[in-house]
Amino acid sequence: MKVYYDKDADLSLIKGKQVTIVGYGSQGHAHAQNLRDSGVNVTVGLRKSGASWAKAEGAGLKVAEVAEAVRAADVVMILLPDENIPDVYKNDVEPNIKQGGVLAFAHGFNVHYNQVIPRADLDVIMVAPKGPGHTVRSEYLKGGGVPSLIAVYQDKSGKARDIALSYAAANGGTKGGVIETNFREETETDLFGEQAVLCGGAVELVKMGFETLTEAGYAPEMAYFECLHELKLIVDLMYEGGIANMNYSISNNAEYGEYVTGTEVINEQSRVAMRNALKRIQTGEYAKMFIQEGKTNYPSMTARRRLNSVHPIEVVGEQLRDMMPWIKANKLVDQSKN
Ligand code: NDP
Ligand code: MG
Ligand code: MG
Repeated sequence: MKVYYDKDADLSLIKGKQVTIVGYGSQGHAHAQNLRDSGVNVTVGLRKSGASWAKAEGAGLKVAEVAEAVRAADVVMILLPDENIPDVYKNDVEPNIKQGGVLAFAHGFNVHYNQVIPRADLDVIMVAPKGPGHTVRSEYLKGGGVPSLIAVYQDKSGKARDIALSYAAANGGTKGGVIETNFREETETDLFGEQAVLCGGAVELVKMGFETLTEAGYAPEMAYFECLHELKLIVDLMYEGGIANMNYSISNNAEYGEYVTGTEVINEQSRVAMRNALKRIQTGEYAKMFIQEGKTNYPSMTARRRLNSVHPIEVVGEQLRDMMPWIKANKLVDQSKN
């Protein structure tokens, strides 16, 4: 697979265009400031009523209402919560984006699942950093960048790919490395990873380990350290050098136990569950569930968040992290999700 770096991108392409970033949240604040610092002409499109307006202005960026910001742009990058994108696209973007303009996303969800049907005259691209927005910004400030994906959905101008690569470069992506994918692959692998492994899988693994220890009478503080706190150390080792690097660093006892118990806990039944999850994503069934959830004001997410917040692992974790202020310092406070 080819990886693109700075030398493969023509930064002047994006520098020659008016770029509007719609949204100033996790990704939006990072893209807007990175592009601006790379010498790109950036306007942030927002609603006046929201909290982001003052933040973007405070960072010295040009801010305008979405429709107005879109009208002035050659390239419009949509960085809103995925659930809000279809309405904003229909009402503010589609009627205002110039003929032959470039429409960009950081996730393929809405286009792949037909929630946004881009106008036929547009180039449609994706530039998706493989990391949270605050890392996209902090790596850029260090002179680096978060590895990113690019994809082309619609190529009216014949230059869509070059523009995507140029945008990725201005955002720092070509410092970390850029690979090309397509909207379907990005959407399906992203959803699968977060559901089965990163968020769904990891959270339930941690909770079940904690519950097993505490129901057997062990102290919740001990269970918290062994099942949640230490996970970071293990993940860091895998992140830095793969599974072998992690196994090299842990004790022989821990490694042997890994072989004895790992495949018993994550077993063939888990594989079936993972395959089911992937099917649900591929058929669009999951997308339909999520869209419905949003349209009905998040009934099951609200209930689950409430249940999670009173789970003993969260209660004891809050107390223990109070004793470790250096950890708490990194907490992303009140990132309310909707
Ligand atoms: P956020 O939830 O952080 O976006 C919030 C921003 O959207 C705020 O500035 C908010 O402004 C604005 N906003 C919300 N609704 C509207 C509206 N109706 N009109 C105008 N502005 C609005 O989004 P993310 O950064 O998490 O995600 C953006 C995109 O990037 C998504 O497609 C996501 O899948 C993708 N992505 C996200 C990653 C991440 O790490 N979060 C990683 C890679 C891709 P206000 O203050 O007015 O509410
Ligand atoms: Mg995702
Ligand atoms: Mg231990």
